[in-house]
Amino acid sequence: MSLPQFKLLRPRTLDQAVAHLANHSNNLRILAGGTDLIPSMRQKLFEPEYLLDIRHIAELKGIREQQGSGVAIGALTPLADIEHSALLKKRYPVLSEAASTVASPVLRNMGTIGGNICLDTRCLWYNQSLTWRKACGFCIKKDGDLCHVAPGGTKCWAAFSGDTPPALLCLNAEVEVIGPYGSRCIPLREFYTGLGDNYRRLQPNELLTRVFLPEATADYRGIYRKLRVRGSIDYPLAGVAVVMKGSNGHVADARVALTAVNPAPVLVKGAREALLEKTVDEALAETVGDLAAKTAKPLTTSALTPEYRREMIRVFTKRAVLAAARN
Ligand SMILES: Cc1cc2nc3c(=O)[nH]c(=O)nc-3n(C[C@H](O)[C@H](O)[C@H](O)COP(=O)(O)OP(=O)(O)OC[C@H]3O[C@@H](n4cnc5c(N)ncnc54)[C@H](O)[C@@H]3O)c2cc1C
Ligand code: SF4
Repeated sequence: MSLPQFKLLRPRTLDQAVAHLANHSNNLRILAGGTDLIPSMRQKLFEPEYLLDIRHIAELKGIREQQGSGVAIGALTPLADIEHSALLKKRYPVLSEAASTVASPVLRNMGTIGGNICLDTRCLWYNQSLTWRKACGFCIKKDGDLCHVAPGGTKCWAAFSGDTPPALLCLNAEVEVIGPYGSRCIPLREFYTGLGDNYRRLQPNELLTRVFLPEATADYRGIYRKLRVRGSIDYPLAGVAVVMKGSNGHVADARVALTAVNPAPVLVKGAREALLEKTVDEALAETVGDLAAKTAKPLTTSALTPEYRREMIRVFTKRAVLAAARN
């Protein structure tokens, strides 16, 4: 599958990148590691006139501890750096663990945290070649007006399938976005729309620049569990992140978030309240597993059945809650 023709823009500074965004936002895509964008372009899912290659902007890379106010991670920081960072492994272990499960080592060397947060949603009927999609019929997400997954509906249910966003949601992370008007910070929980086809609140002339991990969630125990077909490389088909802070044998704070079972990564409703001030045991972990299974809304967007994926969310959540409490 060949790549469509495009013009490459290669800014060296953030100011140059913003100038390109202001001039060409109508038909431009941002290229970070390219591990998702390039295969998608080969499948003709995107045919931008311009690619804004941000890989040479040094100020977008790196993991920096900010005295007393958490950690800032540049959007262009490779996932491998997040996986191996001693600072993150010690202070935000759930994020390092989630990063370590993305794809394979080669893809983690290329793939970035910004690209993982901005990752396109996935569906069996969408992530296919142009020939395949033409033969089966186009859908709402690209070039068509029907949904093969929920026929009769008008909504796209493609699943958000990035591994680090559930960990970031649990940590109460914020993202910094820059555009021609200046920059703004958004809590990650407000970044996603819940729509499969228009899944993030990012304007075409905006760039994600940094991720902030607050001091308040540093040193929380954390666990990430993921279901995939091939353990060595695949996207998640269900994933759960759990963070917990203990005090005198009780839960002082906790959060649980899911990926790959909804059009956005989501916090599990009621999980924090169910865990607060309790001692974790099998029964409580099972209750949280049930809440997670209720929040998960998998459909036939992937190779595994929705029923199995929802059940695995229940099982993984229970195990992750018990493991986080033991940590
Ligand atoms: C075989 C294979 C297996 C994979 N398995 C997994 C997996 O298990 N888990 C997983 O999470 N992912 C997986 N991926 C997807 C991908 O490798 C990762 O999600 C990676 O983190 C994407 O980052 P990137 O820098 O390569 O993004 P790119 O491909 O460069 O970009 C992805 C999207 O984000 C946008 N974007 C990138 N950076 C920014 C920014 N700073 N601001 C605004 N928009 C931006 C791009 O325009 C594009 O729409 C897999 C990919 C492949 C090919
Ligand atoms: S969920 Fe429906 S509209 Fe969305 S990509 Fe899949 S088939 Fe297309």
